[in-house]
Amino acid sequence: MNMLKEKILSEGEVYPNDVLKIDAFLNHQIDTKLSDEIGKEFYELFKDKKPNKILTIESSGIAIAVATSKYFDFIPVLFAKKNDSSNMSKDTYSSSVHSYTKNQDYNIHVSKEYLNENDRVLIIDDFLANGEAMNSLIDICKKANAQIVGCGAVVCKTYQNGENRIKELGYDVKVLARIKSLNDDGSIEIE
Ligand code: 5GP
Repeated sequence: MNMLKEKILSEGEVYPNDVLKIDAFLNHQIDTKLSDEIGKEFYELFKDKKPNKILTIESSGIAIAVATSKYFDFIPVLFAKKNDSSNMSKDTYSSSVHSYTKNQDYNIHVSKEYLNENDRVLIIDDFLANGEAMNSLIDICKKANAQIVGCGAVVCKTYQNGENRIKELGYDVKVLARIKSLNDDGSIEIE
């Protein structure tokens, strides 16, 4: 995914605590051409797995999950909600996540109505760092007895253990850009 790598190198910003800010094209403003390319790439990587649903986490996962759904003939996108919103069904699968960027724990929820044992789920997220968010999405699928057919992340910080952690659980993990290091001088090294 050269387009993604070029975007990261030209518009990504290095923030304290090893945070890569990509608000310019994914986490705040969205480059929809790039999202579409990301969707196409995830389709190529996971088309043999025949998912019938994409699961992600609000908010940044939604755009890329929707873009990916288009290539899978518009399968539904289900996103885990981060707060107990008053209009959400009380019958939910929930899991706790430790946020890397905010250094705090929060719960995510998915309504039992939309996830069950007949689902073949492709999990998609924007970043894979320590694997906390991905692991909680896996946890929710397990609680629903849904089958996980793959896990995709747009950006992986390979010096953190998320990728290995999820692979060691036995899942097929694919990442589109691998960050080798974020440096104090603001430079970004991509594998
Ligand atoms: P993990 O749960 O794998 O430790 O971190 C992944 C989650 O934390 C992602 O959902 C993403 O929102 C956030 N995150 C982790 N590292 C970064 C980063 O360097 N930059 C941004 N923008 N988000 C990150």
